[in-house]
Amino acid sequence: AAIRAAQPQQDQCRRWQSTDCNHFVDSGKIEPPTSPPPPLLPRARPFRLAVKDNIATADFPTQCASRILLGHASPFEATIVRQLRARGAEVVGKTNMDEFGMGSHSTNSIHGPVRNPLSEPDDAISAGGSSGGSAVAVMLGDADVALGTDTGGSIRLPASYTGAIGYRPSYGMLSRFGVFPYANSLDTVGLIAREVRPILDLLVDTRLDEEHDPNDPTSLSSATRQRCARACPPTLHDNSQLTVGIPLEYNIAELDPAIRRTWAAAASALQSAGVNIVPVSLPSTKEALCAYYLLAAAEASSNLAKYDGVRYGVRGSRGDASGDTLYSETRGAGFGDEVKRRILLGTYSLSSEAMDNYFIQAQKVRRVIRRDFDRVFRLANPLYEPAQFDLSDMAADMALEDKRGPAQVDFLLSPTTPSFPPRLRDVLQKSSLDAYMNDVFTVPASLAGLPAVSLPARTGENRLPVGLQLIGQYWDDKRVLGMAERLK
Ligand code: GLN
Repeated sequence: AAIRAAQPQQDQCRRWQSTDCNHFVDSGKIEPPTSPPPPLLPRARPFRLAVKDNIATADFPTQCASRILLGHASPFEATIVRQLRARGAEVVGKTNMDEFGMGSHSTNSIHGPVRNPLSEPDDAISAGGSSGGSAVAVMLGDADVALGTDTGGSIRLPASYTGAIGYRPSYGMLSRFGVFPYANSLDTVGLIAREVRPILDLLVDTRLDEEHDPNDPTSLSSATRQRCARACPPTLHDNSQLTVGIPLEYNIAELDPAIRRTWAAAASALQSAGVNIVPVSLPSTKEALCAYYLLAAAEASSNLAKYDGVRYGVRGSRGDASGDTLYSETRGAGFGDEVKRRILLGTYSLSSEAMDNYFIQAQKVRRVIRRDFDRVFRLANPLYEPAQFDLSDMAADMALEDKRGPAQVDFLLSPTTPSFPPRLRDVLQKSSLDAYMNDVFTVPASLAGLPAVSLPARTGENRLPVGLQLIGQYWDDKRVLGMAERLK
């Protein structure tokens, strides 16, 4: 019953094609919308909103850039879309992405790759992924704000490649009801815009961060929200009272020298503006990428099991097939290669023979990563009690004590990506592993559930933008955004 054919409206489709960036999904409005719009909040101001194609909308199909969901129109709307409509949003279209959010260049899509508007005429470069269409939509002025999802960097990476602001909220802050899950323990829905202000306004002026959603079991309760908010300073102090940490492990050999210089220049500029800059060590950083790709694939393999041609998704071609044949035909034809790869990887890592060596180890790494972050931030993580007497933790702490220094920073500053946007034709030739490498700086904050923003560095040195990432303690989102505004 959830599947209705979407009727493309010709004028809508033409509008999207005019820019040749393939950032909007070529599917027209469904008429009439399936539910009445929510009443406007007192502080609502009209704005144009682009919505990633894995977020359910009443007036457009939601297909996750996947063949298996072709023609799928959701019978309900995502909470975040309704919340933004109540704040004045008009949905202008659905944006292109990597299928189910799996990818780093918005190339794994039935609609074809998204092209970065900063490309030279004959040499298309990556717009980043998986929310590439959302970032391009705001950078071309087709939308004022765009919704994306960030599991391991899918908002920050496209923001970095296109010069946008990309905000990944604290895990559990913004409702994911109506957002097609990829890896539940990592998924967040967040915002992309050209400037920080429209995003900050949604949080500060219209209190988007305060709304619990009973439909999303991972949405923090009102009581916990209040407790977390009390744990964070309400406003951003003067620069002289702020400390920004430079995580030394992010200075990897593969980091592009121009990006390294831009990062250092941004730190110097902050220092000149009175901010204290200190080096910090997050020793578990180098394990984060492996842990992420194990956990994300494991959760994805479980999430995507529902697309079996019976309950959800377009059914495989042979009408008389049943059972395993029906499933394999449906999935074989409906999923793209990268999605299949993740399902196989994830299923393997959850199998009894591999579970202990892969999945369980990755969970342990995840805990250590969170602990690393908690140690360097001045604020305590409001979700967890201060360290209990855990002997193995204490031994690890002692071994690393001289490397780390005391907990003291308000924010961490790093590049968002280790390299500039690659050419699309190179991306299409390279292996998936190369694409995974681009997430090396974004996945640690994802694993720890922390808020992070990518913003374009002020630099005259390069033709292409360099994204800088600010990470903050859990629920310190407004100060992270405030700091991003100061830095931009
Ligand atoms: N590139 C990462 C992946 O493919 C991140 C994706 C995301 O954040 N949705 O898993």
